[in-house]
Amino acid sequence: MTTVALKDVTKVFHDGTVAVDNVNLDVDDGEFMVLLGPSGCGKSTVLRMVAGLEDPSSGAILLDGELANDLPPRDRRIAMVFQDFALYPHMTVNDNIAFPLRLSGVEPASRGERVADVASALGIGDVLGRKPSQLSGGQRQRVAMGRAIVRRPGLFLMDEPLSNLDSGLRAELRAEISGLVRELNVSTIYVTHDQAEALTMADRVAIMRKGVLQDVGTPTQVYGRP
Ligand code: ADP
Ligand code: ADP
Repeated sequence: MTTVALKDVTKVFHDGTVAVDNVNLDVDDGEFMVLLGPSGCGKSTVLRMVAGLEDPSSGAILLDGELANDLPPRDRRIAMVFQDFALYPHMTVNDNIAFPLRLSGVEPASRGERVADVASALGIGDVLGRKPSQLSGGQRQRVAMGRAIVRRPGLFLMDEPLSNLDSGLRAELRAEISGLVRELNVSTIYVTHDQAEALTMADRVAIMRKGVLQDVGTPTQVYGRP
C-alpha cells in the first residue's frame, strides 16, 4: 500500500517546454486515480516523475509521506504498464511473468506459485506455455499486467494501456483492470485521454490541460454523473 503526494510540482524541459505547471495531487491508499486530458497536456510526464524516470524541476514528490525526489526508481515499489506491451518475444508467458521475480532472486518454487496465482487472476492460466506471438492483443496486455504486478508493488502506474486495442476489447479490459486493481488493493494512477474510460474506472479523476491540473474529484463531482 502506498500514498502519493505531488506538492507544487513543475517540469520544464531543456527546450523550455513547461510540461507540468505547479501540480498538486494526492492519491490515497488503494485509490484508483485517473489522470485525464488531451495528448501533450503533461500526463506521462507526471507519471514518469512519480516513477523516478524524470526529475521535477521544482516541487516535491512524496511516497508514503516521505520525500522521494532523490529515490531511485528501483526503490519505489512501483510497477508500470505502457501501451506497447514490450513483452520478451522469445520467452513463454510463464517466463515473461516470472522475469521480475528471477531478477530479484525469488526461488524457482515460489516463482511458479506466484506466476500461477497472477495468471489465474488474469484468466491466462491456460496459455502459460505460449510465446507472445501466439497470443491475442488482450492476452498480451494481460501478460504485461501480470509481469507488472507479480512483485506486489505498492503503486501501479498505467500509461494508456488500452489505446492500441479495439473498442470491444477495451471495454472488456477496462472492467478487468479495475476489478483486478481493487482486488489487489493497490494504489493506482491510470493515464488516459478517453473520458469514458475515466468515468467507468476511476475512484477520482484528475483533469489536466496544458500542464495544469484543472479539477480533481469523483466522476460524479467532476461530471455530475457516475
Ligand atoms: P531532460 O530535461 O529531462 O533532460 P531533454 O530535453 O534533455 O530532457 O530531452 C530528453 C529526451 O527527450 C531527448 O532524447 C529528447 O530528444 C527527447 N525529447 C525532446 N523533445 C521531446 C518531446 N517534445 N516529446 C518527447 N520527447 C522529447
Ligand atoms: P501527455 O502524456 O499528456 O501526452 P507528455 O507528458 O508526454 O503529455 O508531454 C507534455 C509536454 O511536454 C508536451 O508538449 C511534450 O511535447 C513535451 N515533452 C515531453 N517530453 C519532453 C522532453 N523530453 N523534452 C521536451 N519536451 C517534452
